[in-house]
Amino acid sequence: MSKIRILSDSLASQVAAGEVVERPAAVVRELVENSLDAGAAHVAVHVQRGGTALIRIVDDGSGMSREDAMLCIERHATSKIRTKEDLSAIGTFGFRGEALPSIASVSRFKISTRPAEALTGTEIEIHGGKMHSVSECGGPAGTSIEVRSIFFNVPARRKFLRTESTEYAHVEQQFRLHAIAHPGVAFTLTRDGQTVFHLPATRDDLERIRGLIGDLADRLVEVEPFEHRGVRVSGHIGGPGVSRSTRQMQLTFLNGRPIESPSISYGLREGYHTVLMKGQHPVTFLRIDMDAHAFDINVHPAKKEARFHDGIGVREAIARAVSQSLAGFQSFPIGHSTSKRPIPTVGVSSEQQSEMPLPGGTTGVPLRLPPAMSQSGAQPDPAACSPRSEGSGAPPEIDTRSRETVDSTAPPTKKERPRLRILGVVHQLYVIMEGDEGLVLMDQHAAHERVMFEEMRLAMEKDGVPTQRLLMPLTLQTTPGDADLLQRNLEGLSKLGIDAEPFGPNTFKIEALPTFLKTDDPAAWLDQVIEELRRVGSQSSALRLGEDMIATTVCRHAVKANDPLSLPELEALLTDLFECEMPFCCPHGRPTLIQITDAELERKFGRRAP
Ligand code: ADP
Ligand code: MG
Repeated sequence: MSKIRILSDSLASQVAAGEVVERPAAVVRELVENSLDAGAAHVAVHVQRGGTALIRIVDDGSGMSREDAMLCIERHATSKIRTKEDLSAIGTFGFRGEALPSIASVSRFKISTRPAEALTGTEIEIHGGKMHSVSECGGPAGTSIEVRSIFFNVPARRKFLRTESTEYAHVEQQFRLHAIAHPGVAFTLTRDGQTVFHLPATRDDLERIRGLIGDLADRLVEVEPFEHRGVRVSGHIGGPGVSRSTRQMQLTFLNGRPIESPSISYGLREGYHTVLMKGQHPVTFLRIDMDAHAFDINVHPAKKEARFHDGIGVREAIARAVSQSLAGFQSFPIGHSTSKRPIPTVGVSSEQQSEMPLPGGTTGVPLRLPPAMSQSGAQPDPAACSPRSEGSGAPPEIDTRSRETVDSTAPPTKKERPRLRILGVVHQLYVIMEGDEGLVLMDQHAAHERVMFEEMRLAMEKDGVPTQRLLMPLTLQTTPGDADLLQRNLEGLSKLGIDAEPFGPNTFKIEALPTFLKTDDPAAWLDQVIEELRRVGSQSSALRLGEDMIATTVCRHAVKANDPLSLPELEALLTDLFECEMPFCCPHGRPTLIQITDAELERKFGRRAP
């Protein structure tokens, strides 16, 4: 007798369930996607005990005939694709025809469904993959699916379930993803009988976002629709000073489908570059739209990932869209009543607690600030930022007024300095100012870093950074692939201060390196440069590396915590800061300015109810 056997359908479903249904949140994802594919206008999600006891999804979509209802629980039964051509341009969420049989094989499953035109509906119960009953039912048009006691028959998987609150958190995250992707569909989420979200349909993305994240929505910047290499990018992203320590709020959608991809993450990182502190993640609600043939979604059983044919294009489109939007973040609420984009405000809401730590803490005790930033504990790189005793405080002589941005499509920067009256300096670091809306604090070191950073970056983009000729030129032996890469990027490298020229097959002679490169091992540094080029494969990455280098360098030269500055010097610093593309944070992503509004002060002093 042969040893090989075809698995029974129910066993095959359980195996497939291992991939598709890892936890209650995955069930929610699959069922909500089915409801959306069925054209639902309203999707209601109910869970009990984090989804481990019950998940019920009710929609008012197309519903199914009795025949279809019987079919939908068979493996590889799908109404969404028919031919292999369909597979190359998938327009629906589902297409694998696996979800329902998989879920039904590991739970007590009940589906009740009725198309609007049918007088009666169909109800089917399946327990652990075995048909339990089929009957007629009444009920509203649409589909309701109940999944009870998930993994009751697969103890090994049940063991892997986490606490109810963790499972619930994952369910909520799934819900959020779909609710944000589809503002035109009404959504409700109920947990153990309590309504958590009730979101009416809307045409306004921001209104939907606000319904899910509350006031944090005020601190988002709109991404002006931007197109590059067939990739369209739009949405809302956190402004400077808005970030999270996890990726939970980094939501990205590809043609309306929540998706993760390294190309997208890199693009975001690049776009945020110096606006994000190390270890922090951006807050994004970013839509990426492109031709359905330009990517493959059939990579991951749960369809959480996409593979792009032009990953670099995706990455560049996102990086540019993000950096342009952040650069457009010029409005300062003080003195500009037309703008409602706030700068980081100290200790206003509980939301603040979970945001990135601001120097001075979140409690708004403004005059008891730590003497130096290095004590805030929030530094990305304390060594690089710590004050050093020597170094000139004078910025390089570059006329910032004639600044040009590299990308001519970037929005024109506004050069308006808000009205701020300097009152004094605390611990020779924090400049206290009176603004139209309250108290404003400036970190003089961080502010000067930003000013110097932008000046040097501009110099690099225009004419290249100053270089230092090597006494002994280095020879660099590379692989043919890397040689090609270097050859194509010689110009970018020269702007970065690396003077390289071909020197025989796969060999380059390095004659000069940037002046402010302080390393004992230039060869290792060059290795890093090549690595970066390999990763991104474009000139812009050389400039990015340059930015990192400059960011560390300016730290050493910027005015220190203990450098006393005269009033005219402070005035000049303030003016220069507001001429920056990104005045609100230093090149390491820490804030340069903090506002404590009058309202906040009144609350602190008990003049106003909290
Ligand atoms: P897929 O979504 O990959 O096609 P599923 O197992 O999730 O596979 O669903 C199988 C089929 O059942 C779908 O193709 C669809 O025709 C039908 N179906 C599932 N859920 C619903 C629903 N909520 N409303 C209407 N039809 C549905
Ligand atoms: Mg499906």
